Amino acid sequence: MKTWIPPERFLPYLTWKQVDALPRDRTLLVLPTAAIEQHGHHLPLATDTLLNNLLLGHALRKVPADLPIYALAPVCYGKSNEHVGFPGTLSVGRDTFAAVLRDLARSLVAAGFRRLVFFNSHGGNHSLLDVMARDLRDEFGMRTFCLFGGGAASGLDPQEAAYGFHAGEVETSLLLHATPELVHTDRYTVNYIARLGDPGVLKPEFASATFSWLTRDIAPSGVMGDPTPSSAEKGERWCDEMSSRVAAALQEMYAFREILER
Ligand SMILES: [Zn+2]
Repeated sequence: MKTWIPPERFLPYLTWKQVDALPRDRTLLVLPTAAIEQHGHHLPLATDTLLNNLLLGHALRKVPADLPIYALAPVCYGKSNEHVGFPGTLSVGRDTFAAVLRDLARSLVAAGFRRLVFFNSHGGNHSLLDVMARDLRDEFGMRTFCLFGGGAASGLDPQEAAYGFHAGEVETSLLLHATPELVHTDRYTVNYIARLGDPGVLKPEFASATFSWLTRDIAPSGVMGDPTPSSAEKGERWCDEMSSRVAAALQEMYAFREILER
């Protein structure tokens, strides 16, 4: 798969002797977690995996060269059972996903590494990663961190900012910038699962009162948002802004000191 990770920041490109020479207590390892799942009629299944790599790759180029921060090979398959019934979606269950993360963490701990970031780009993984980050802190004494995507896209219409979270304007623009050959611009569909200003407190997402959903319940084409205003220019700008935020977060994680040791 296409990659933007700088080769010198990609841990699997090192030999074990080079890894053995890294400063164990300071090295920050970043595990990308993503998905292979439907993204409407117009975006590829690998959208979350590509966007994860795009933002992390650009972020790692913005981090000072002397900081020992490395990307691990990604966990491309995520918990995507909300997209069941859309062909090509490949989901792993919560126990499988958690077991993979735990086994990888145990391997890192056995090698003496202490600092691990989950850099996630798929919403369905999010709550499990929070659980695992705490469990690995408890079980192995690792210093774990969670980082979800690159934050808000500037200048977005409020409706799209609130409910354009899957194959909408942001993801489509980022891929128009990064892999335009994979975007079917003649096959956009528009679907909002809720509208700003809708009455009531019970919402499908982003509210204190929610109902659980499967995509087929709420989004027949698989899109949640409006990709129509997307452009490569917006994607390039958002890639720059988001990767700068990711780079800033990674540097704060690198510099993090335990509260009781400050
Ligand atoms: Zn996505």
